[in-house]
Amino acid sequence: MAAISRAIRSCAAASRRSMAASSKEVPADVARAAAAAAARRGRERDREGGRRVQWVFLGCPGVGKGTYASRLSRMLRVPHIATGDLVRDALASPGPFSKQLAEIVNHGKLVSDEVIINLLSKRLEEGEEKGELGFILDGFPRTIRQAEILEGVTDIDLVINLKLREEALLAKCLGRRMCSQCGGNFNVASIDIEGENGGPRMYMPPLLPPPQCESKLITRPDDTEEVVKERLRVYHDLSEPVEEFYRARGKLLEFNLPGGLPESWPKLLQALNLEDPGKERSAAV
Ligand code: AMP
Repeated sequence: MAAISRAIRSCAAASRRSMAASSKEVPADVARAAAAAAARRGRERDREGGRRVQWVFLGCPGVGKGTYASRLSRMLRVPHIATGDLVRDALASPGPFSKQLAEIVNHGKLVSDEVIINLLSKRLEEGEEKGELGFILDGFPRTIRQAEILEGVTDIDLVINLKLREEALLAKCLGRRMCSQCGGNFNVASIDIEGENGGPRMYMPPLLPPPQCESKLITRPDDTEEVVKERLRVYHDLSEPVEEFYRARGKLLEFNLPGGLPESWPKLLQALNLEDPGKERSAAV
């Protein structure tokens, strides 16, 4: 990991020039098969005691990357590294740098590649000192340049692209709450939308906090309607091309969330060909 963090830093410094992404078309079934093979390779390496999985989560703001990435990271014993969390930690420390960052983040824009690479490299270095292996990245890469830098320094096994209907995304961002004491993430939105083209209704129940967190809930300053709409626009402009970048490399696994966590989690595990150890335990009781 130290090698990766050093390489990311130097690669970022060297790649000031813009690099165009390969836009080779790969048929969807070929891409799916390649992504499944990539997931298998990652898990086999893990079992062989080589290195742990190196996965990336992509998806629009509000899709639930953090929820699914953190669950998988616990299952696969790899750190969940969310660049949004790194940015929020930087925002929390007083000084001119955090003021500059707040101006960008609270308007729904992306911070510069340099800033994000520095924050990520520092996080990887700290993890390496603690003996961390593998990772699940969430919120990085978000631009083609970030994807090229990452691709240049390490082998990403799999990129999971979470998808959810656009109507649900805004409601999910506006319903998001965090406990200011324990850091737990909740959602007060109850989403119930008509099926598309005769498809099933989509129901996402709220994920309510336990009583001890109820009075301590806070909302992210960038989860207002105006800012979320801007973040979605920025995602479509700058981050959606990253999907194509990984699709062309056979690493993209598309996953359409069928509903809330209880419905989607087992299906995601199935798509990844993973067994939920929690389920095994409860079946054994
Ligand atoms: P998130 O929690 O992933 O929605 O990220 C919150 C904010 O942090 C984003 O709206 C951006 O301003 C910033 N951010 C997070 N990750 C990145 C990234 N990879 N590149 C640029 N800005 C980022």
